[in-house]
Amino acid sequence: MLPAMFVCLGLVAPAATAATVKGYEIDAPSSLQVVVNKHRKLNPQNYVPSRLARIQGESLRAEAADAYKKFASAAKKAGVTIVPVSGYRSYNQQASLYNNYVLQYGQETADTLAARPGHSEHQTGLAMDIGNPGGTCALDPCFENTPAGKWAAEHADDYGFIIRYPKGAEATTGYTYEPWHLRYVGTSLVGDMNDGGFRTLEDFFGLGAAPDYL
Ligand SMILES: [Zn+2]
Repeated sequence: MLPAMFVCLGLVAPAATAATVKGYEIDAPSSLQVVVNKHRKLNPQNYVPSRLARIQGESLRAEAADAYKKFASAAKKAGVTIVPVSGYRSYNQQASLYNNYVLQYGQETADTLAARPGHSEHQTGLAMDIGNPGGTCALDPCFENTPAGKWAAEHADDYGFIIRYPKGAEATTGYTYEPWHLRYVGTSLVGDMNDGGFRTLEDFFGLGAAPDYL
C-alpha cells in the first residue's frame, strides 16, 4: 500500500495502484468501497475475497455478512422474511453463467442479463441478491412492491447497503433497475452518499457513466 500522501490526489490512478477518492479506496478489490462496473474490471480479474462467511447457502465477505445478518434479523422482527438468493460468485462461476447466456441468447442479450466475468459486483463478495420466501417477483422489477423489496428500500442503508442499480440510473450504472441487488459499502459511505443526494457510486465518486463495456 502506498503512503496516503501519494494516493489522495483525487485522481483515478491506473488500476494496479490504489486510488483514494473522497477518502475511500475504490480500486483495490479488497476495499469495501471498491467500484466495479462495465468500465472498471476487478484487478486482478480472478480476485477471490480472503474471508467469506456463509449465509443460508450463500456467502459474503465477513464484514458484509455481519451487516446482512443484522439487516435480515431486523426485518424478521418486523415480520418481513428476506432470503438470500445469490451472494458471492467466483470469476469462474460468473464466466459460466455469462457464457451460458451468450450461447442461449447471443452476446447482446447476455450483456443485459449478467455481468461479464471480472466485472461483477458479486465477485467482490459485497453484493447480495435478496428475495421473498415464496420467490415472489424474483429478480424482477416488481420486487420493489413486495415485503422484502419494500423493507430493503427503506432500511438497507441503515446497515451499510445501497440499492446499487436504482430506478432511472441505467445510463449511469449500465444496469436496469435491480431493487433486489444490495451492495455493501459501509454506513460511512452510505451516509456521505445520502448527505450529498447521490444515488450511484459513479456519481458520488465522479467516475462518469459506465453504460456499456469499453
Ligand atoms: Zn446481483
